[in-house]
Amino acid sequence: MRFPIFKTKIEEVKKKFNLADPKERQRYFELKAGAEIEKLRDYLKENTFIAYLLGKKMSGKGTYSKMFAEVVNPERIDHFSIGDMVREVEPNLKQRKKELIDFLKKDYRGFISLEKAIEIFEKRNTETLLPTELILALVKREIARREKKALFIDGFPRDLDQISYSLFFRDLIGYREDPDIFILIDVPQSVIDERIKWRRVCPLCQTSRNLKLLPTSKIDYDQKKKEFYLLCDNPDCKGVRMVSKEGDELGIEPIRKRLEMDGKLIERSFSLYGIPKILLRNSLPVKEAKTFVDDYEITPEYSYQWSEKEKKVKIIEKPWIVLDDEGIESYSLLPPPVVVSLIKQIAEALSL
Ligand SMILES: [Zn+2]
Repeated sequence: MRFPIFKTKIEEVKKKFNLADPKERQRYFELKAGAEIEKLRDYLKENTFIAYLLGKKMSGKGTYSKMFAEVVNPERIDHFSIGDMVREVEPNLKQRKKELIDFLKKDYRGFISLEKAIEIFEKRNTETLLPTELILALVKREIARREKKALFIDGFPRDLDQISYSLFFRDLIGYREDPDIFILIDVPQSVIDERIKWRRVCPLCQTSRNLKLLPTSKIDYDQKKKEFYLLCDNPDCKGVRMVSKEGDELGIEPIRKRLEMDGKLIERSFSLYGIPKILLRNSLPVKEAKTFVDDYEITPEYSYQWSEKEKKVKIIEKPWIVLDDEGIESYSLLPPPVVVSLIKQIAEALSL
């Protein structure tokens, strides 16, 4: 399974953009995908689509689809994850809330009774897969609540059996005559590993950053522990020290099985016929980078030095090189160039 490298470099344009700045980012998108953004906005005035996001855990599914919405039209595009939906619906299921149970009585169909399906749901742990038929009914309910919006669905299909369901899902639920699209995301395991290992979270506002790959604007040094740390810079927050979550230092080890399963799911979907597929690549070989992307589109890595004299942290930035799953030295792309490729491929899939 090899995903093509998408070219976002425009030869004659020399301008650089700071992609961390929202205003510059908007100008960047206009330059690199302005025509397609206009076509999509036009399309979304009267039409919608359903896109299934397939990527490993921490592959950036939420980031990409939210950025796509932000750039194209946040009012007409929604993103929802099965995980969030399950967490939200859980208390209502436990209390057997009437509105929910009535909906399920009408819409649930399966080989086990609705009551049994709800019991499995309540007794589940992180390993058990929820009854597919119950998930289908709940997804249908979510979609009905988001009328007239294009949707990115994250977390369905979840296993190999569910792929076939998703192919006919549109027909099953009678979701208008919307086009449906599969979005496959390819990201090296090493990228996921470092995203987890260096993740830092604000204990107050839960903002998540990365000490090595996505620091905040304020970095300080703990002289006792001899370690650098981030201070939260969310303007609505108090600016406290961000911390790593227990277990994060293990990286992908605890979720290795899950990542394997996700990988199989992507591989299987890669060979599907009849449904448009969009292929997103997070990384590209260092050797080919100059041909395909601009320097500022590549994820840098940050390291730090403490200057005892100036009592100040010195920040060192350089290109981040990782080995992809085939052992090739690669760069990881920042989200905006991946979203440029997403915008262009969706416009094409919709024949705009
Ligand atoms: Zn905070």
